[in-house]
Amino acid sequence: MQNRFTKHLWQFARGDWQRKGFEDWLYSQDGLEGFLGEELYLELVSCDFSNSEEVWKLRQSVAEAIDKYRQCECPKIRDLDFIPMGFDGDDERFFANLTEILNYGEKKWWLYISKCGRCETLWMVGQDDRHYDDYFLNRISNHQLDNAQKGDWPELFFTYERMLALGRDLSTAPIYCDPASPGLKWTVEDLLKERPAITQDEISDVLGISVEHASWLMKETKSSVKSG
Ligand SMILES: [Zn+2]
Repeated sequence: MQNRFTKHLWQFARGDWQRKGFEDWLYSQDGLEGFLGEELYLELVSCDFSNSEEVWKLRQSVAEAIDKYRQCECPKIRDLDFIPMGFDGDDERFFANLTEILNYGEKKWWLYISKCGRCETLWMVGQDDRHYDDYFLNRISNHQLDNAQKGDWPELFFTYERMLALGRDLSTAPIYCDPASPGLKWTVEDLLKERPAITQDEISDVLGISVEHASWLMKETKSSVKSG
């Protein structure tokens, strides 16, 4: 019963809401006032959704009001999001309820799908423990899982390059003490294997390193591949 409201309210609270869809939903919910309490309900229905500051405050208030119903970390995670590895235990809390149900295999070592045992959300995970040190997360449907089981995976983390580009957009590029770090070399090696025509500018862009550094790593990688 609670879930009838909390699913949409969490979408709003975490920022995964479509304005029109949420407003239509909001005005058609019998019992929402009783669920949220009069004060917060009135704030919601009288909110100026074009005012980003007002919406931001209201999102925090809604999250606080419904947090007591939350049984796992999923509701707080956006449809496309990331969790840093080893930061304040956020990753441990999130993965504590997840079970891996499908793994792409060695060829795409970063890619798998897990299911939350509490709320049954399906998460496609791109696990980059080399460069960004983040788990990239995408909420997927049962239909997308069915397709992945048949070999047709969602595209978002399907190439290593694309997942790293997401890292660049969502996260922060690391600073390396050792410019010849093995992790960096393996990353560049995998990028070159996946798309041999990738340029130094593109590698610099997805990894957040200088073009000179990318160029040097490419030469190192190519020569070690030849000699290996
Ligand atoms: Zn969950």
